[in-house]
Amino acid sequence: MKITKMNNISFKRIYYCTDMHVHDKDIDVKTPAKSIDTTKFLKEYQADSDTFVLKQIIPSSADCLLSQDGKPLADEIAGNSKILKTYENTPVRDFLAVCQPKTGNVENIRQLIDENPDKFVGLKFHPNMSELPAESELYDDYLSFAKEKKLPCLFHSDRSFDKVYRGAKGEKYPVYKSLFSRPDQIYSLAKRHPEVPVVMAHCGGPEKEDINACVDIVLESIKKNNAKLYVDISWVGIDDYKNDARHMEKLVEIIKKLKNSSKGDMTERILFGTDIPIARYNGAEGTKIYGDYIKDISKAIKKEFPSEAEELTEKIFYKNAQDLFFDKNWAKETKKALKMSMPKMAFMGACVAAIGFFGYKLLTLNKNQNNTQKNN
Ligand SMILES: [Zn+2]
Repeated sequence: MKITKMNNISFKRIYYCTDMHVHDKDIDVKTPAKSIDTTKFLKEYQADSDTFVLKQIIPSSADCLLSQDGKPLADEIAGNSKILKTYENTPVRDFLAVCQPKTGNVENIRQLIDENPDKFVGLKFHPNMSELPAESELYDDYLSFAKEKKLPCLFHSDRSFDKVYRGAKGEKYPVYKSLFSRPDQIYSLAKRHPEVPVVMAHCGGPEKEDINACVDIVLESIKKNNAKLYVDISWVGIDDYKNDARHMEKLVEIIKKLKNSSKGDMTERILFGTDIPIARYNGAEGTKIYGDYIKDISKAIKKEFPSEAEELTEKIFYKNAQDLFFDKNWAKETKKALKMSMPKMAFMGACVAAIGFFGYKLLTLNKNQNNTQKNN
């Protein structure tokens, strides 16, 4: 029996969501971090006829990121242990372990993970807040450990360019490119650890040119196969209003570029993350703003990619994170690719050697002939 696909009929869909970029508290550099119950976000959100069920969040410790007098509020053991207690009697089971390469030690993270198996599904780094450039070699031990344990690493990523904002009266507010967390700095580190998935949070945003620079780096790494880079979309397009609704032009661009990478569709590298409960999410309207953001993303995908909207929505909101943090097909693929490439590389090496040898022979033969001709 031939089954024909029906077009132009919209079915009610239920989409699962995993928010992979969450903190246990708001992070405000001026005031001590405020405690907020992030589990209140674990609910259903409506987007037209579709329902989005936020199934899981993956929080990390704010105390490990914040510092006082140049010292973190909590060290790697204290802060990361505390977050397990915070969520003890909640549905939240998975966490990112915050690493402090400047003041800490990877052995702390090893101890934490050994003592709390299956709790930490990845590592988290904030080069800006640690004031440690992402390309520093102090990160290397942590990424080697991530490779050993097959843990993805989430990096705060930030502006690649300076920008001058204008006030209502034309006042200038310059903001400078990041000294520590630019995508090009994260890429330098990721290239030293090509088997470790490295997620660039906020896709290097917020501005369009910053996001483009970040995506271009992901595309280059895909083409050269020299790093395993991902992006999360937290804050992407959240302030871009048009007629009262956010238009997700920046997100659409990210999807378009990754759909058409040199290796084909690589939209598996895009993750749904939000940074809750920071800033506007921390307030009475927090979950409403969150729901609106989900709705706007869903709308933009439906409008721009109508024939693949379901698949893309599933991937970005749920499946990509499911694979990255839990199923880890990427780890199996890396192994397979390496196994395949070893004999291939040996064969290519032999070919190069053979070409070199015969080329040399041909050259000396020609030279001898020329010399003989000249001598004649
Ligand atoms: Zn964050």
